[in-house]
Amino acid sequence: MMHSNLIDGEWIDGNDMVRNINPSDTNDVIGEYARASAEDAKAAIAAAKAAFPAWSRSGILERHAILRKTADEILARKDELGRLLSREEGKTLAEGIGETVRAGQIFDFFAGEALRLAGEVIPSVRPNIGVEITREPVGVVGIITPWNFPIAIPAWKIAPALCYGNTVVFKPAELVPGCSWAIVDILVRAGLPKGVLNLVMGKGSVVGQAMLDSPDVQAITFTGSTGTGKRVALASVEHNRKYQLEMGGKNPFVVLDDADLTVAVEAAVNSAFFSTGQRCTASSRVIVTEGIHDRFVQAMGERMKGLVIDDALKAGTHIGPVVDQSQLNQDTDYIAIGKQEGAKLAFGGELLKRDTPGFYLQPALFTEATNQMRISQEEIFGPVASVIRVKDYDEALSVANDTPFGLSSGIATTSLKHATHFKRNAEAGMVMVNLPTAGVDFHVPFGGRKGSSHGSREQGRYAAEFYTTVKTGYTST
Ligand code: NDP
Repeated sequence: MMHSNLIDGEWIDGNDMVRNINPSDTNDVIGEYARASAEDAKAAIAAAKAAFPAWSRSGILERHAILRKTADEILARKDELGRLLSREEGKTLAEGIGETVRAGQIFDFFAGEALRLAGEVIPSVRPNIGVEITREPVGVVGIITPWNFPIAIPAWKIAPALCYGNTVVFKPAELVPGCSWAIVDILVRAGLPKGVLNLVMGKGSVVGQAMLDSPDVQAITFTGSTGTGKRVALASVEHNRKYQLEMGGKNPFVVLDDADLTVAVEAAVNSAFFSTGQRCTASSRVIVTEGIHDRFVQAMGERMKGLVIDDALKAGTHIGPVVDQSQLNQDTDYIAIGKQEGAKLAFGGELLKRDTPGFYLQPALFTEATNQMRISQEEIFGPVASVIRVKDYDEALSVANDTPFGLSSGIATTSLKHATHFKRNAEAGMVMVNLPTAGVDFHVPFGGRKGSSHGSREQGRYAAEFYTTVKTGYTST
């Protein structure tokens, strides 16, 4: 079946299409998806611009009802959509269903937020004047998403954009258009007026670039690589538009001598390898103090032997395939780089053969790594982690912060003193104590600092900062 783009309320095929391929079985074609042209993107932007005046003044009950209906349908279809997600991205079925539920919860949360939009009334410093501060939608929002969370990231950008009265042009990652098409279809059937949400699947260099180049896009929210993020930033400065970037990470997970070994190993394995290590919050630097180092490495090796790497849809699979050949090449290149740099490949790293042709890689653990090595500084985005040995907590903290990134940071310790100090001093947007660096709630802020993020936070009530603009009104009384 051909899945079309949605422009101004019309489903449009266009002249080109791409096949959505299952990374667990490359013979399995999930479907055909239209590829928009730059002209299609321009038409979508024009439609969103035309729809803005009416939608920005639409009643909050209408927005609430549409978002609520969308949440209900996503949750009711969680098994089917979760399966589609796992089939197109390669994370396990449990992870795929979990992410789908999260998308439903996000729509539900913002359905509620539509009813709670508030301003402030503040006394003026001048007599007989009233001051009111209100929030208004920004305008046409461009949404550009990556492949690693095919339903949750589109949800956490589309839901607040619509909730606060913006209109949207949405470009999902070309590698995983399936879930994006499904949620747009659900939103339209939930009653969105034409032009309010436009879907333009296709190449970033064509469709995404047309969005960056348009003076009619008032805000762009982007998640993806650092390189593309910079392009978004430069183009947005040029057009004096609002922009928000969530980019890479090189998240540290610190293990102190006093850690509970089981807690530390579970959190480290989850952080480094679950979702095939393809999470921006994944940890690929495990920083371990010397008193527990050898026991920790031994226990990690044992735990990794028990991991089942196989077809994402198979019962019992812990880790699915890498998303595609190009990401697999990047992972194996970094494994070779790690060896050349003198780190010791203690476990894994081999390509695996399974019943079906897919991009299977045994998760790899390096030991004897230093923080200066490229494998410790650059985002790999695969199931490849390295252990860095340090003397004590102070050195662990300093190594943890010695990175250009700052998304998430974790520590395993039973010391309240060290946990408290780490939470305050980790240079990251999110800090986890005795928990994996990845795995976050849907109703609280998400984002980082340093090279990982730019702009205000996503998710929870903090999303209003990006998707609204503040107006200060003065009235003589
Ligand atoms: P990209 O930054 O290339 O892709 C993210 C999105 O941007 C995609 O929708 C992509 O389109 C789009 N895009 C690409 N070029 C442009 C452009 N010129 N103008 C506007 N939009 C554009 O990342 P990749 O998906 O290629 O992944 C590469 C690396 O990025 C990964 O290996 C990983 O290191 C990192 N990454 C980080 C993520 C994070 O959450 N922090 C998420 C995903 C990746 P298209 O569909 O054509 O690619």
